Amino acid sequence: MAEKINAVKGMNDILPPDSARWEWLEDKVRALMGRHAYRMIRTPIVEPTALFVRGTGETTDIVEKEMYSFEDRLNGEQLTLRPENTPGVVRAAIEHNLTYDGGKRLYYMGPMFRHERPQRGRYRQFYQLGAEVLGFPGPEVDAELMVLAHRLLAGLGLRNIRVEMNSLGVPTERRAHREALVAYFEQHGAVLDADAQRRLHANPLRILDTKNPAMQEMVQGAPKLLDYLGEGSLKHLETVQRLLDACGVPWAVNARLVRGLDYYSHTVFEFITDELGAQGTLCGGGRYDGLFEVLGGKPTPAVGWGMGLERVLELVRQQAATFEAPAPDAYAIVPSADALPQVMATLQALRAEGVSVQMHAGSGDGMGSMKSQFKKADASGARYALIFGPDELAQGAVTVKALRDGSGAQVQRPLAALAEWAVTLQS
Ligand code: ATP
Ligand code: MG
Repeated sequence: MAEKINAVKGMNDILPPDSARWEWLEDKVRALMGRHAYRMIRTPIVEPTALFVRGTGETTDIVEKEMYSFEDRLNGEQLTLRPENTPGVVRAAIEHNLTYDGGKRLYYMGPMFRHERPQRGRYRQFYQLGAEVLGFPGPEVDAELMVLAHRLLAGLGLRNIRVEMNSLGVPTERRAHREALVAYFEQHGAVLDADAQRRLHANPLRILDTKNPAMQEMVQGAPKLLDYLGEGSLKHLETVQRLLDACGVPWAVNARLVRGLDYYSHTVFEFITDELGAQGTLCGGGRYDGLFEVLGGKPTPAVGWGMGLERVLELVRQQAATFEAPAPDAYAIVPSADALPQVMATLQALRAEGVSVQMHAGSGDGMGSMKSQFKKADASGARYALIFGPDELAQGAVTVKALRDGSGAQVQRPLAALAEWAVTLQS
């Protein structure tokens, strides 16, 4: 036998029956986005590397160490598998002048790629749902986006998720804070780890979201950006908070929640659970009013979030009631291959009515014994077996046997009326 080939480490196959959960989640997402009048955007998975270097930021973990980058073998272009999709959405918005006639509310779902150490809730290919609102400067869209994420998670039956938020103000406020921050960190130089040393001048804000326990206490005492906010920024923040209150979304301020890049402003937030260990951030987002300009577009206010769907589904598995694996409504038992033309034509008619039917498939030299066919029918989870026996077919009928209600009841139904009956089964 030839040598086996396995999936790339940290990249997962999503298989049935688990894939049904994914479909369930995706259906919920589409319905909810539709109710909020958000429209789908799909951008390429591969983008020019420069898009992320500029749009995600040179001093971020993603660009410093997590990107799958390669050179196009044919023309030497520098390309990267998208590690996130906000830069792609903004690139597309600039390229197609999407906001020429007003703001846009967009969402996407799809795979992202980051070269991380694989562990529960952290993969090298993972799926993100994202929502991005382009062209609106007001706090009401920040709140709308947060309410949307909250509704989605609550609608999936999830509990005990807290919302942390902060404000990054505007660039002038951040500059004043940054000076105080660098001075503070310099005073505590002995506690800074290598990452922090490196970021001290390039991106001191990012030191605040360090995961190093040895730096936590020092970081707790650092100057808070909130104390540097002017009236306008405070009003923006308070409006978001008031609107969250009105919509029943509980929130807490976390002064250390940051996105350390100059194109961020005002609101930043995360949705966090304590029930997934260290990978507890389900959703992160914020306002990025400066990003359009960084990517060569006209100044355009924007705000959005990204949600990790593996983590969301892991929490669904942990918290929500049991999930029923999907099953067909009926299983077609075919005693003899001679009946196949009639069987397949009948099943087409049932499916056209929306009934889910699985047809028995033979072994190549026959359809198999009735016993083995009934076993397969049982295993399929179908509620009924449709038995296309030669005697019944000769009379223009099939036998319908109940598989799940314990009765084992069998009735003959005329083929002509089968669809009418089957429609009442639809799951
Ligand atoms: P973390 O601090 O967990 O590394 P992050 O700040 O890198 O998260 P974002 O870039 O804000 O995450 O991405 C948004 C969401 O995508 C995260 O909140 C998380 O739910 C999910 N996510 C990020 N990286 C991964 C990954 N490697 N595997 C699975 N989900 C991920
Ligand atoms: Mg990360």
